[in-house]
Amino acid sequence: MTEAENKTPRHVMAVVGGATAGSEIARILAERGALVIVFEQNSRPYGKIEDGLPRWHVKQRKDEYEEINQRLDHPNIEYVPLTRMGRELDFEQLRTSWGLSGIVLAHGAWKDRAFPVEGADQFIDRGLVYQNKLIYWFNHYLEKNYDGPRYDLSPGAIVVGGGLASIDVVKVLQIEMTLAALKARGIAGDMLALEREGIEPVLNASGLKYGDLDVAPCKLYYRRRVLDMPLSDIPPDAPAKRADALRQARAKILDKAQRKFLFEFQELRAPSGVVVENGAVVGVNFSRTEVADGQVRIVQEGAESARAPLTISSIGSIPEPIPGIAQKGEVYTYVDQKIGLLMDGPTAVFAAGNVLTGKGNIKDSLDSGTEIGSRVAEAYLGLSGEEFKIAEGARKDAAVSGEKIAGAMSARQKIAPDGVSSLLRRVRERQHAVGYEGNYRAWLAKVTPPDLH
Ligand SMILES: Cc1cc2nc3c(=O)[nH]c(=O)nc-3n(C[C@H](O)[C@H](O)[C@H](O)COP(=O)(O)OP(=O)(O)OC[C@H]3O[C@@H](n4cnc5c(N)ncnc54)[C@H](O)[C@@H]3O)c2cc1C
Repeated sequence: MTEAENKTPRHVMAVVGGATAGSEIARILAERGALVIVFEQNSRPYGKIEDGLPRWHVKQRKDEYEEINQRLDHPNIEYVPLTRMGRELDFEQLRTSWGLSGIVLAHGAWKDRAFPVEGADQFIDRGLVYQNKLIYWFNHYLEKNYDGPRYDLSPGAIVVGGGLASIDVVKVLQIEMTLAALKARGIAGDMLALEREGIEPVLNASGLKYGDLDVAPCKLYYRRRVLDMPLSDIPPDAPAKRADALRQARAKILDKAQRKFLFEFQELRAPSGVVVENGAVVGVNFSRTEVADGQVRIVQEGAESARAPLTISSIGSIPEPIPGIAQKGEVYTYVDQKIGLLMDGPTAVFAAGNVLTGKGNIKDSLDSGTEIGSRVAEAYLGLSGEEFKIAEGARKDAAVSGEKIAGAMSARQKIAPDGVSSLLRRVRERQHAVGYEGNYRAWLAKVTPPDLH
């Protein structure tokens, strides 16, 4: 930051979460001359890209890391890592006592929607595992210094879901179980090859078939029909023929995924209970359902019981509740949704990114209601060989939010240089406490595990 910039009034904005959305909004505000403080709970700011997208997206993740780096490297941005709102940083204090011009909440959607069986959560990590923690483990467990939860995957697992993320989960299970079976035969498998080429072709190259491995495949249960899977959206005004073609495209995507990764699928089943033995979930009771007028109806309560040593819930990620921010159901309530304004006052509070959409993946890029939606889904799932920029849709949405926020802020009074300096001192104290010396790239070099995948 230049001397001159410190001597003129300016806006000081806090952005919570430094990933795709947070970094893009920080860049836009910084380019307009604001001092932007980016609070990030982790040491590295890559959010869903590092911890939510399975690590086989090697190139896309690397590219997006660098794009985030370039945005956060702006001289008007102060990066404050290892600072989690709700732990080291209190939202109400930030809003009412720091004296900021505004806050942008861009902390994503990391809370797994609850498994829809009452009391099931007492068995978390005892037979019942949630998707976000599982993918985090999958992405990091090979690092020497990994100290998060560890999962022993087992054959024949149950996955409850239906969206893209649940297909990621079945891919993780099928690939990991195949690797384990190969290892037991003294064969070093290649995770990336299995994901890229599919299980059977890779096994064939070693003279094996999936059936030879004696590994029960996992099974994905979905409460609606395959035609309803949220793999591409259908515009409400689509003519009947068009809507039908788009529904059929979903079935084709699932079919391709099953042929490549050899998992099983059951539509029209909703969990109604868990089977518990010795304090752990060992299965799920499912009700049979039907879809009528777009609604799911139970037609036979507890119709079947499926047993498995592991059940993974993958039914969506939502923003974490924040004390002080009103919510309606799963999403925050807005003073002005058009600009993402959550709370007005001397410090305005905005939301952006997955916080704003209220979802853990970017439905919008699947929303076009044309073949593009299906193409994105196929490319994402590795079914078409087509490459796409994984966070491009999210970044563009964030840019739109950033412009709106910058526009709304332009009418607001700036903070006098003394106020800016005192905020900066406060930020430096926190940076110092976490060992951040003020150089973003040097910090990354220090905290990036040498064996990060
Ligand atoms: C299955 C799946 C499919 C996807 N498909 C697409 C797609 O088709 N198109 C697309 O563009 N993107 C897709 N994405 C990627 C992803 O969801 C978005 O692109 C994007 O990464 C979301 O950005 P974000 O910045 O809103 O949230 P996140 O990436 O979640 O970033 C939030 C950041 O905030 C930090 N944070 C969280 N809580 C706190 C706190 N309390 N205090 C401080 N910091 C905090 C986190 O550590 C993180 O760095 C998909 C993701 C998944 C998992």
